[in-house]
Amino acid sequence: MSRYWSAVTHGLTPYAPGEQPGLDNLIKLNTNENPYGPSPMAIKAICAAAADSLRLYPDPDAKALKAALAARHATSQAHIFVGNGSDEVLAHAFLGLLKHDLPLWMPDITYSFYPVYCGLYGIDFRRIPLADGFALRAEDYLPRDGERAGGIVFPNPNAPTGRLLPRAEVERIAAANPDAVVLIDEAYIDFADDDASAIALIDRHPNLLVVQTFSKSRALAGLRVGFAIGHPELIAGLDRIKNSFNSYPLGRLALVGAIAAVQDEVWFQESRRKIIVTRAMLTARLRELGFIVPPSSANFVFARHPAHDAGEIAAALRQRAIIVRHFKTPGIEQYLRITVGTDEQSATLIAALREILQTARPGTENE
Ligand code: PMP
Repeated sequence: MSRYWSAVTHGLTPYAPGEQPGLDNLIKLNTNENPYGPSPMAIKAICAAAADSLRLYPDPDAKALKAALAARHATSQAHIFVGNGSDEVLAHAFLGLLKHDLPLWMPDITYSFYPVYCGLYGIDFRRIPLADGFALRAEDYLPRDGERAGGIVFPNPNAPTGRLLPRAEVERIAAANPDAVVLIDEAYIDFADDDASAIALIDRHPNLLVVQTFSKSRALAGLRVGFAIGHPELIAGLDRIKNSFNSYPLGRLALVGAIAAVQDEVWFQESRRKIIVTRAMLTARLRELGFIVPPSSANFVFARHPAHDAGEIAAALRQRAIIVRHFKTPGIEQYLRITVGTDEQSATLIAALREILQTARPGTENE
């Protein structure tokens, strides 16, 4: 606390990102990064752009990146917004499209940044409970008893659960709420089935905004690039916010790196496939050890052991130089969110867990 802070600053509850320890030789499975390096074409493009031209500001409209994304997603540049990581795109969308008199609806268990944006921008929101097994049900997002949402936001697959809502259900929500923006945060969609993305729906639903990131499936979390695809009216709203905040959210290196990454379809499909295969193997091994693991469509799994405390397991893993994410949030405090790493990292994790479960005294049943 400081007397120099504004009242807004005093009132904030900031988001706590997963730890980025400065230690080597850690198996880092806590922030859903990609265990494989980015496309070599992206690295080459970034190196080539580290040149005299860095004197100059980048293109404020990121036209070349929008063109590459438009080609990749069979849409036009007018349907695309880009930002400094999808967190920035989300922040602009919260302020520019989701802040209304009626409350914003979101799941009760979801990406913990959403309530933080609501706090920052003074957005009234309502948490909608998930169903059994953390399933998100479309019927819970339909107007009812005279109540409507001012906006709707959820990740698909949801975070930190990994559960996917089928595209037809996403469409039901968008169709039933034509006066509200429905924002689908597809940070992890590339690890789901091919036809899962709601991008295919944007031409039919002008209220649908789909946000994606280069941080996970493109392995470029360090470059900070995210984007939104939706009706040009939504994109124009985001542009107004962006141009009232920072004209140049993406630097020259980020722009060229992202363009090269979008164009390297071979790298993309291969790395995606490897993670999906490892996820299936990791899920099976965890279940063999007695963990309860809901099916995941993301690059992480969400796991709970009925007889062992999640906090204690996380601490014991840490002693073995393996870090996973443990949220102390009520309702999920007995779960661990474990990023899908390489096959080798998963094998090391499973061996460590086997040892921990054998040596630890089982706790009280937390069924
Ligand atoms: N949405 C969700 C659901 C996430 O888990 C994350 C990663 N923390 C993001 C958005 C933000 O990712 P980035 O800013 O790296 O694009």
